[in-house]
Amino acid sequence: ARRFFIGGNWKANGTPASVKQLIADLNSAKLEVDANKDVEVVCSPPFVYLAEVKQSLRSDFGVAAQNMWDKAPGAWTGETPTQMLTDMGIEWVVLGHSERRENCGETDQVVADKTKFAIEGGLSTMTCIGEKLEERESGETFNLLDRQLKPIAAALSEEDWDKVVLAYEPVWAIGTGKVATPDQAEEVHAYLRKWLADNVSKKVSDSVRILYGGSVNDKNSEELGRKPNIDGFLVGGASLKGDAFATIINSAK
Ligand code: 13P
Repeated sequence: ARRFFIGGNWKANGTPASVKQLIADLNSAKLEVDANKDVEVVCSPPFVYLAEVKQSLRSDFGVAAQNMWDKAPGAWTGETPTQMLTDMGIEWVVLGHSERRENCGETDQVVADKTKFAIEGGLSTMTCIGEKLEERESGETFNLLDRQLKPIAAALSEEDWDKVVLAYEPVWAIGTGKVATPDQAEEVHAYLRKWLADNVSKKVSDSVRILYGGSVNDKNSEELGRKPNIDGFLVGGASLKGDAFATIINSAK
């Protein structure tokens, strides 16, 4: 069975005070599931708070960066090479988020190359894919997902997939309050699972966790989580509230 996975993407949010509070709230949250066993929980703060979160957050939660530089340390002003993250004990990185594809010019190929580089550098990745509203409305969803997945599958070895969690995040559902229905999400997740079986291997298709992201909250997570191909969530806004995030984690039951 695939271990349920909950990622919290804090995006570019937080002040020194609010981050301290969120860490305290998460550390004291009562979970009804074992984060060492039943569920894997990973929080992804902005870079400036990574060290503090890594040091202070409960040890049964992992920590992810929201990006990384796919070159060795050196003369790269303003960038954070993979090695700096692993040196600090960071285990994960979020890649291919639609906000970076859209605002930072990250192409399908860049996302694939960074995923490979991150894995070679010792990180695991939450690699994000998903269609925009106009793509869904024009019946292009599956074609778009094929286009995003192809370079990733070409870049990775079968073994590399042990280090990848795929996050399906329909852009129209991100930050809009317009969550995909459980059936809508399941339809795509089942498609992705089959795509992996056809284009990578049955083993990878059976083992890779496919997360849903986009307006997940403490009210809708339980129903979404019951779908057979939804293996967890990548949560934005609701991951900034300790109690809501704990409730979402408990939906792994
Ligand atoms: P929201 O949960 O705020 O819609 O964000 C989802 C997301 O983009 C997580 O990466």
